Amino acid sequence: MKKKYDYLIVGAGLFGSVFAQQMKAAGKQCLVVEKRSHAGGNVYCEETAGIRVHKYGAHIMHTSNKRVWDYVHSFVGFNRFTNSPLAFYKGNLYNLPFNMNTFKQLWGVKTPAEATAKLEEQRGVYAHIEPANLEEQALKLCGEDIYRCFIKGYTEKQWGREAAKLPAFIIKRIPFRFTYDNDYFNDDHQGIPEGGYNRLIDGMLDGIEVRLDTDYLEHRSELDGLADTVLFTGCIDRFFDYRLGCLEYRSLRFEHEHLDMENYQGNAVVNYTEKGVPYTRIIEHKHFEFGTQPATVITREYPDDYRTGKEPYYPVNDEANTKLFNQYRELAAQYPAVLFGGRLAQYAYIDMDDTIELALNLAEKELTKNEIRK
Ligand code: FAD
Ligand code: UDP
Repeated sequence: MKKKYDYLIVGAGLFGSVFAQQMKAAGKQCLVVEKRSHAGGNVYCEETAGIRVHKYGAHIMHTSNKRVWDYVHSFVGFNRFTNSPLAFYKGNLYNLPFNMNTFKQLWGVKTPAEATAKLEEQRGVYAHIEPANLEEQALKLCGEDIYRCFIKGYTEKQWGREAAKLPAFIIKRIPFRFTYDNDYFNDDHQGIPEGGYNRLIDGMLDGIEVRLDTDYLEHRSELDGLADTVLFTGCIDRFFDYRLGCLEYRSLRFEHEHLDMENYQGNAVVNYTEKGVPYTRIIEHKHFEFGTQPATVITREYPDDYRTGKEPYYPVNDEANTKLFNQYRELAAQYPAVLFGGRLAQYAYIDMDDTIELALNLAEKELTKNEIRK
């Protein structure tokens, strides 16, 4: 017998919201369930003193994917915010990502030729190695000074383990350039949704039934009876009741503070790269939207060990976890009525643009499959 909904979508984060929107647009009946008391997943913002606070960490949309950029623009416009974070190290401020400004502040060099020569000296023997871990990758790319000042401390507190025991790919995300360009991203497009991320999510979920405060895994038999197909965007190991073992995640703790001053740090993001400072960054939210409010809200972001009950923010994609995840993936393939998507179910460190692209692709694949079945 035909069930009430075509799709039960577990998780109202970006992945679930994009998928629900596409399915509804194709005439499918969707029910979204979300265990938190709000939609949006980690892009959700909460307003304090007229300032939109990125409750689960700073989110900056950046992409070179025209399809994704056009898609998000069908719901909301974007402002001209460009992420240009600073690094605070031993009382001094440096520009990020690593560029001519950083090299000048660090070594006093002024031209690209001087900077290149200095870097060659710094990279020394590491220039020719095949990096086996993050530490070697960073030393090969940037040499000793940059690694010691900006990478080692930040990375080790962020991930809770030695840089030499982390996969190299984590550091490949940071741009490195010989121009005076402080844009943290190399992408064609960048910005913050006008009116905030909640507007983007509300636009996607418009007209779709969403049940908040509902943990799918606590109401599984009842909810499974409602829909033909389930899209699950939560943790894949939890879906299978950890039967093959627990995947490792890294968690975060956010300390939000309302300050009675107009401008605390003059920039949206300042990274604290020393190991001795317990937080990795301070975010001043109003600067994402060029706010002129009389007060300000800042957030200190503390890396935290993960255990059940805490928020699993980052997958730890090392060899052991990747192997375990692949076993879960094989298990998931035996459940044809369940689709798995998003950064938790795919156990992947994916940005918003990739999340959106993957959700659009999955929706397209599903609709094609439905067409063939007809
Ligand atoms: P999520 O946003 O985690 O959504 C999953 C949802 O599913 C959650 O709401 C969760 O509550 C719900 N859920 C889980 N299990 C269940 C269950 N059993 N029942 C019901 N509901 C459930 N990307 C960028 O492009 N730019 C950035 O600047 C950026 N900054 C980031 C900063 C931080 C600190 C983090 C952690 C990520 C950042 N990202 C950034 C990545 C971005 O957050 C993700 O790409 C995107 O939010 C992933 O969406 P998702 O739907 O897969 O996951
Ligand atoms: N990183 C660092 N120093 C910095 C910023 C980043 O060493 O000042 C490293 C760190 O290992 C981090 C990775 O680069 O996990 C990726 O940084 P990004 O800012 O892209 O991380 P995210 O915003 O996704 O946490």
